[in-house]
Amino acid sequence: MPSPKEILKEYFNYDSFRGLQEEIIIRTINEQKHSLVLMPTGSGKSLCYQIPALLFDGGTIVISPLIALMQDQVDALRKKNIAAAFINSTLSKKEREERLEKFLNGKIKLLYVTPERFRKSDFTAKIKNANISLLAVDEAHCISEWGHDFRPDYSRIGEFRKLIGNPLTIALTATATKEVQLDIIKKLGLKKDEMKIFHQGIERPNLRLEAVDVIDEAEKFNEIKSVLDNYSGSGIIYFALIQTLEKFSLMLRDKGYKHKIYHGKLPDKQRKQMQRDFINGMEDLILATNAFGMGIDKPDIRFVIHAEVPSSIESYYQEIGRAGRDGKDSLCKLLYSQQDLYIQMDFIKWSNPNADFYSALYDLIKRDIDVINSDGFEFLREQMNFKNRNDFRIETALGMLDRYGVTEGSIENHNLNIIEKLPIELEDEARLNEKLLSDNKKLLSVVNYFRSEDCKRVFISDYFGFKDEKPCHNCDNCSLNFKKEHNG
Ligand code: ADP
Ligand code: MG
Repeated sequence: MPSPKEILKEYFNYDSFRGLQEEIIIRTINEQKHSLVLMPTGSGKSLCYQIPALLFDGGTIVISPLIALMQDQVDALRKKNIAAAFINSTLSKKEREERLEKFLNGKIKLLYVTPERFRKSDFTAKIKNANISLLAVDEAHCISEWGHDFRPDYSRIGEFRKLIGNPLTIALTATATKEVQLDIIKKLGLKKDEMKIFHQGIERPNLRLEAVDVIDEAEKFNEIKSVLDNYSGSGIIYFALIQTLEKFSLMLRDKGYKHKIYHGKLPDKQRKQMQRDFINGMEDLILATNAFGMGIDKPDIRFVIHAEVPSSIESYYQEIGRAGRDGKDSLCKLLYSQQDLYIQMDFIKWSNPNADFYSALYDLIKRDIDVINSDGFEFLREQMNFKNRNDFRIETALGMLDRYGVTEGSIENHNLNIIEKLPIELEDEARLNEKLLSDNKKLLSVVNYFRSEDCKRVFISDYFGFKDEKPCHNCDNCSLNFKKEHNG
């Protein structure tokens, strides 16, 4: 059998492993023990499961949250002659069956799926008899409600894991607090001492971390302009609100700064095009919401500006991790404005409907299911008396009803249906409140990050529960402290 290193050379054409890759791979293969891998974006988490997958007899299932992401990854693997495939809703039934059959026969070694696949009985009925050597859960923080990007379907992974016989499991993420780490392990159906945690810190000394206070829009715009005028190369400007993004887009265009935009309300095709243009270097600057970036592997991003306060240190860290992957100096600048906190506080409120909201929505769906299926969201919004057009509590609540199996089908497909009673989790005001509080605490950490006078990198490391980071000498606070010391 070839060694991991030989596989690395033969299939991936790399000469050496990076960071913790080798240790994780060897342990996975030799000891067959579960691991939770925390490594920054771009550090090469994928190899940690791809190489074992090539050496194991049985197949590997990779769970990944985004269809677009898995298509790119599978394309890249196939170019390397690796027998990988994905199964998702973009394929015909026949294609899905063929791919599943090939996986069952061992002709496909790595099968990528999104978690929604576990709901399809034709898939689960067959997959439970497969010979599976490894389950890889990518972007594992999506499992945890306490994480910054909870995906209800992800929390079913434990059930799915059981169905396929509790195979060897590796979970990977760039961002998980201690709390989220423990939750991931629990949701996978494992105990704390059954899963080893591997952590590799932000070894990206080339990222310059800065934050400035801006009191109004004009000041914000000037800060952005000054970065654009002083930095050449590619950059991302993140916004929390699409409205603000569009406003700044006009202002920048007006001053002759060319750019693309990316947000969740653009048509799919247009979004893909924008992303492609940015990655290929057809366009240097992109204005985006947090919908942009997961799985973006562009080495030469020179700056990431946050024009509005992000919701958590986790998402901030994930987003700035896209800068400077080539190791060259890059700037990560947070424009902090007190007012922006209110936007995030609204987001938090809308992401956390209370028990009354759930029961009102439940009753409404039960009573008017036919009208809802024919008239769609607008009817729901009217009935629930929504004044703010940005309020997305209904979307949040529908997602949760679906996750807990209260409903099946969807309004888009005109086949929403109630099949169960409300579960205790959605009626438990104290529990719902705890989650709201936890989200608010995350936001508060961003405020503390901005206010802190200590090294910013040390702050972030501490936040993730890793206490041994040394001052970085490459953030605004380190520069200031250095100056103070040397001026007496
Ligand atoms: P992550 O999932 O941690 O964000 P990826 O697995 O997508 O990162 O890897 C990021 C990039 O690093 C990819 O282009 C990958 O091919 C490259 N890479 C990974 N491991 C190595 C290595 N040992 N040597 C050189 N390049 C590597
Ligand atoms: Mg990845």
